[in-house]
Amino acid sequence: MRIDVLTIFPEFFEPTLGISLLGKAQNNGVLEFVIHDLRDWTSDPHRTVDDEPYGGGPGMVMKVEPLSEAIEAIIALDPRKPEVIFLAPIGIPFKQPIAHELAHLDRLLLVCGRYEGFDERAFTYADRIISIGDYVLNGGEVAALVVIEATARLIEGVLGHGQSALEESFSDGLLEYPHYTRPSSFRGEDVPGILLSGNHKEIDRWRLEQSRARTARLRPDLLKGENR
Ligand code: SAM
Repeated sequence: MRIDVLTIFPEFFEPTLGISLLGKAQNNGVLEFVIHDLRDWTSDPHRTVDDEPYGGGPGMVMKVEPLSEAIEAIIALDPRKPEVIFLAPIGIPFKQPIAHELAHLDRLLLVCGRYEGFDERAFTYADRIISIGDYVLNGGEVAALVVIEATARLIEGVLGHGQSALEESFSDGLLEYPHYTRPSSFRGEDVPGILLSGNHKEIDRWRLEQSRARTARLRPDLLKGENR
């Protein structure tokens, strides 16, 4: 998968995407990240990407011309048409099923806002608008990294153990079961005996029960399907 990112802060991405599993996936050719500086599509000496809002009010608005020129130019860089995703609090909430949908695509273009957000006319380029939660960040960069990480780990060849992503929280609408590793007893708290039994059928049954009970206790909304 190729992931293009359009931002005024390319430096957010370079250190983060080069490490751990995402770094390895790039080295193996499973993922390609191309980070673009929006200011490269400005034409004035100050490389201006924002302007005052029509109608007044606080803050600045991201200008439509550099955004449109950048998006058109970036789309044309590769024959694969990207899914163009704007990060914004007005978007649909980002959930695991969306990460699964995105993981099947060949190419994404993530557009990061700053200031008060985008000139409304820029949204004509958006195939989707995604919000990572009901709070306001300073910019779309952290949101883009969230979308990249949640999506990329579902692509074959990115996680070391392919099964891991299938058994995690949200993959089947439930929270994950509890995990334990050595020691088997820690300050009087023992690992549940079933996990030491070697009986994998019973272990699977126990884990499913634990997942259901934990989801009912901590996230009953998931059981009602409200999160899908
Ligand atoms: N004025 C906007 C509003 O009230 O909806 C908030 C703008 S925010 C300060 C600047 C940029 O951060 C947005 O354009 C968007 O790209 C990004 N951003 C902020 N919160 C976000 C969220 N919850 N999800 C995705 N992107 C977000």
